[in-house]
Amino acid sequence: MSHDHAHHDHQHHGSDLSPVEARVRALESLLTEKGYIDPAALDALVELYETKVGPHAGARVVARAWVDPGFRARLLSDATPAIAELGIGGRGGEHMVVVENTSETHNLVVCTLCSCYPWPVLGLPPVWYKAPPYRARAVIDPRGVLAEFGVRLPDTTRIVVWDSTAETRYMVLPMRPAGTEGLSEEDLAALVTRDAMIGTGLPGSVPASPLDSPLEMPA
Ligand code: FE
Repeated sequence: MSHDHAHHDHQHHGSDLSPVEARVRALESLLTEKGYIDPAALDALVELYETKVGPHAGARVVARAWVDPGFRARLLSDATPAIAELGIGGRGGEHMVVVENTSETHNLVVCTLCSCYPWPVLGLPPVWYKAPPYRARAVIDPRGVLAEFGVRLPDTTRIVVWDSTAETRYMVLPMRPAGTEGLSEEDLAALVTRDAMIGTGLPGSVPASPLDSPLEMPA
C-alpha cells in the first residue's frame, strides 16, 4: 500500500512549490547547469504538449475513420501507420492499437500499472486516468466506473478493458452518433471528446434543432 501523501500538500519554507515541483525545479537547474538539457528545448516540449498535442488530433483520426471505410480498415488492422497518414505520431504513439466500439462491444482503456497513454493522439492524460481508483476499478467494475462517468450501456453490451503499457497504447474508435449522416469530417471531429477515445465517454450528439444549440442563437 502507498503511504499517505496528503500531509505533503501544505507549503514549505514560504515556497509556492509543492515538494514534487521543487524537486523538478532542482533537477532542471542541475541538468541545465551540467549542460545536459537546454531550457529552451524543454520549454518547447512543454508548450508542445500543453497547446499543440491534444485530443483534437485523435478526434481527426476518429472522424476520418467514420467517413472513410478504407482508412477505418487500415486503422483497425495497423493503427500506427494509419494515424501517421494524418501526420500524427511521435513519442508514446509508436505502437498504437485502435479498438472499435460496436452495439455489442464497448471498449475501455486503462493503464493498471501506471499511466501509459497515447500522447500523440490524446495529449496529456487527465488526472483521474493516473489515479489509483480508476486504475483499479476500471478492471474490477468497468460498468460501475462507466456509470460514474455518466455512460450507461445496455446490459447486453459487453465491456472489454484494455490495459495500456509503455509498448502498446490503445485508443477507442467510438460509434458514429446517429443523425450525423450530413456532417462534414470537421464537424464530426468536433463531436469526438477525449473521454470517448478512452472509453469513459461517448461522442457528443447533434442538436435536434438549431434552437437547441447555443451556437445558433442570434447575437
Ligand atoms: Fe503506464
